[in-house]
Amino acid sequence: MEQSYDVIVAGAGMAGALAAISAAKGGTKVLLLDRNDQQEAGKKTNWGWVCGDAVAKAHIDFIEKETGIRLGEPELDHKVDGVYVLSPDMKNKFMFEGAGYTLDRPKYARRMVQEAIKLGVDYKPRHEVEGPVVENGELVGVFGKDDKTQHYEVRAKIIIDCLGMASTLRRRLPPNEFIEKDVSTEDIESTGRYIARFDHVSEDLNYYDPNNAIIHLNQQLAPGGYGWVFPKSDGKINIGIGVEKKSLDKRNAKMGKTDTLHKLIDEYVAWNPVLKNMKVDETDRNGKGYWSVAVRRQFDSLVYKNYLGAGDTMTMPNPISAGGIGPAMVAGILAGQTAAEAVAANDTSMDFLWKYNIRFNDAYGNKTAGLEVFRIYLQSLNNDLINYGMSHFLSKKEAEAMSYGLVPEIGIASTFQKVLSGIANMNAFKNLLYAHGAMKRLIEVYKKYPAGPNEFKNWKGIVAKEISEAKAKFPANPV
Ligand SMILES: Cc1cc2nc3c(=O)[nH]c(=O)nc-3n(C[C@H](O)[C@H](O)[C@H](O)COP(=O)(O)OP(=O)(O)OC[C@H]3O[C@@H](n4cnc5c(N)ncnc54)[C@H](O)[C@@H]3O)c2cc1C
Repeated sequence: MEQSYDVIVAGAGMAGALAAISAAKGGTKVLLLDRNDQQEAGKKTNWGWVCGDAVAKAHIDFIEKETGIRLGEPELDHKVDGVYVLSPDMKNKFMFEGAGYTLDRPKYARRMVQEAIKLGVDYKPRHEVEGPVVENGELVGVFGKDDKTQHYEVRAKIIIDCLGMASTLRRRLPPNEFIEKDVSTEDIESTGRYIARFDHVSEDLNYYDPNNAIIHLNQQLAPGGYGWVFPKSDGKINIGIGVEKKSLDKRNAKMGKTDTLHKLIDEYVAWNPVLKNMKVDETDRNGKGYWSVAVRRQFDSLVYKNYLGAGDTMTMPNPISAGGIGPAMVAGILAGQTAAEAVAANDTSMDFLWKYNIRFNDAYGNKTAGLEVFRIYLQSLNNDLINYGMSHFLSKKEAEAMSYGLVPEIGIASTFQKVLSGIANMNAFKNLLYAHGAMKRLIEVYKKYPAGPNEFKNWKGIVAKEISEAKAKFPANPV
């Protein structure tokens, strides 16, 4: 391996491959490191790629617009018209997101690595990244173990961290006020899923829909999270759940149970009346897996000294849906582009790189703090309150708007006129209004995102206060 590059991208997953492609397109010399072999590029864990694999069409279009790469079959495994959320009693069904795809994740990752290599990226599979090389408080490279398990050290002007949830770079940065080291367990969903074939013993689009992705809200089946059934090609299904630890503990204590994530997934599969006789599909050894996903706003800064972060390492998944593919793609592209511009301008200062923060917020990130509040609120509702809320609090249009992080002004006011019954329901409605207000305030706060690193500390404090107030007001209360 050469000793120095313009840009090192660590991790060849969703964010990393696109960061490398975009930096190379910008004319820089790029090294792309990943611990897996090329056939298993982008594989998250020994369990496989572990994902629901659903992504909005808008994000796939963004890739084509920004990189010229047109995706199709087999990477885009199956097209869906939308994503529907169902209430626990299955009586209300809200559209959550529009058209999209379920990906064939291994094939997608292999294609993207090929695209990076075509652009001249120096791709090194089977290279573990263990940490940053830091000099005078600045990142100047990374170190790790190469394909012969020998220590290596390599340098670059800019490091892009795309190592996912458990990043060894982020967690080993020098102490600083910009990038957080750890993610609170309250903001993490423990998830698991199967890719499997089933016998379809009957038809009910609330349980399996070949043309739509389905999300089941149910605090007993998936406390603090949700269950999903996403269609794939050839009648295959991606089925799984996410749970939040505190919610699971409370639910178990109240119900006198000791259920684990693994048990709950199997219960969720058994609960589905139209899918029977599951046969796990072990293509690419990607049939069954467990992993974590952060569901908070992205880190308040994605930039440190010669360092940019993209994807799960920066907690980018959508706080409501846990959809992290889209933001990882967007961030990877923007980080790669910004790095290339910095190299071309011969200015890799934090002031220059800061534009990546602003670009990501403009493209995606400015709604996520509001969505985090909405998620915290949702986790405070039991099944009865969710059922009642989905039929009385919000119209389908209002709920859809809020799930996108929008705050539907006129609609929500009109709900005051709706007749609500029961103290618990009225409290839940009052709390919804509080969450709505906080979302509105946070939208304004993000409009004033600091123009440079100097104003960051004060701004960050305002966001943190809003979030901690929401957490104090809405403790998890699943049953
Ligand atoms: C069960 C589950 C279901 C999900 N469902 C969806 C969904 O349906 N839709 C959606 O949009 N999102 C979903 N997500 C989230 C989504 O999978 C992630 O947000 C997305 O994969 C993030 O991409 P990334 O590039 O940041 O990280 P990753 O995909 O984790 O890629 C990181 C890469 O870095 C490599 N790496 C890690 N550490 C090292 C190291 N030390 N040295 C070298 N290489 C390393 C990994 O091997 C991997 O190749 C789900 C997540 C889970 C867990």
